[in-house]
Amino acid sequence: MAERVIPLADHRYAASLPRVPLDAAPPDGLLADQLGRELRDLRISVTDRCNFRCSYCMPKEVFDKQYSFLPHASLLSFEEITRAARLFVAHGVRKLRLTGGEPLLRKNLEVLIQMLSGVQTGEGKPLDLTLTTNGSLLARKARVLKEAGLQRVTVSLDALDDATFRRMNDVDFPVADVLTGIDEAQRAGLGPIKVNMVVKRGTNDHEILPMARHFRGTPLVLRFIEYMDVGATNGWRMDEVLPSAQVIARIHAEHALEPLEASSPGETAQRWRYRDGGGEIGVISSVTQAFCRDCNRARLSTEGKLFLCLFASQGHDLRSLLRGSYSDEQIAAAIGLIWRSRDDRYSELRAARGAEGGSGQRRVEMHYIGG
Ligand code: SF4
Repeated sequence: MAERVIPLADHRYAASLPRVPLDAAPPDGLLADQLGRELRDLRISVTDRCNFRCSYCMPKEVFDKQYSFLPHASLLSFEEITRAARLFVAHGVRKLRLTGGEPLLRKNLEVLIQMLSGVQTGEGKPLDLTLTTNGSLLARKARVLKEAGLQRVTVSLDALDDATFRRMNDVDFPVADVLTGIDEAQRAGLGPIKVNMVVKRGTNDHEILPMARHFRGTPLVLRFIEYMDVGATNGWRMDEVLPSAQVIARIHAEHALEPLEASSPGETAQRWRYRDGGGEIGVISSVTQAFCRDCNRARLSTEGKLFLCLFASQGHDLRSLLRGSYSDEQIAAAIGLIWRSRDDRYSELRAARGAEGGSGQRRVEMHYIGG
């Protein structure tokens, strides 16, 4: 019988082997990149699989039955993820966000959450530990996630109208089940819950007002995200982007809004509140108002490649270090070196290049490093 070879690395995305400095100082939490941006936020993708096939992220034509997702041996183990998280925290990371794919598809995710909830800052403070989900499995998992130490969740929801929602997730998943998941998350105390709606002109922009009305007057924060040119498979076009300014104008015409200050440095969303006290909304305007200057996020892919930008075409192979005979100090030093040389600002450059301007390089897919 022929031997079955399971590839241990995914060669779809290039990654360089990080340089391990010999004489590195231990992390002091004050790491800054070439543009003076500190490292504060780590997004960890725990699976490249998803049970939805949203056209802007994992279009069915590409991610079909023949598509080969990463084999289990390629994924970072929970121990490897926790070790990496500790090193990033030593460098100043204060927020850990688990992403995917759909993170709740990763088996025993609550075990990882329990491990990560034990990681503390140098001053002994807990981290902001959160997760982004499509909500499909939330009703079943909310309580166990909370008990494991998860603090809050962000749920992706692109429409309230069932037909529009089913069309967008492209697997005929009913919106009612996601809404039940949100209710369960609220009951379990996984708040403040954020709801992310990707707005695609001509596809779901008619859902802006129904979504705003639905979440108005609740503690949930609805955020509208401009449709972005992530990855290489979603056929992005500028004319399908509805600028956030228009989203705000549409809602403001019905319920007066006023801007709020950012709640933390590097926050991606611009915050607005209803003047009559009906709560808060946000807009994430990556296309029309780039916020690269404050970008303090790093992304760790499912198989341990470190990406410094959502639109990067190349990562840094941290898994090789985690699985090699390197000490924590050496790996932390390598991470420090990588972050210090970072000068990514894709969205800013896209704006400078003009409406249709990509970088011309193949970009990493969002399901592989999380949004
Ligand atoms: S384009 Fe890259 S650098 Fe700019 S905000 Fe997005 S992730 Fe950060």
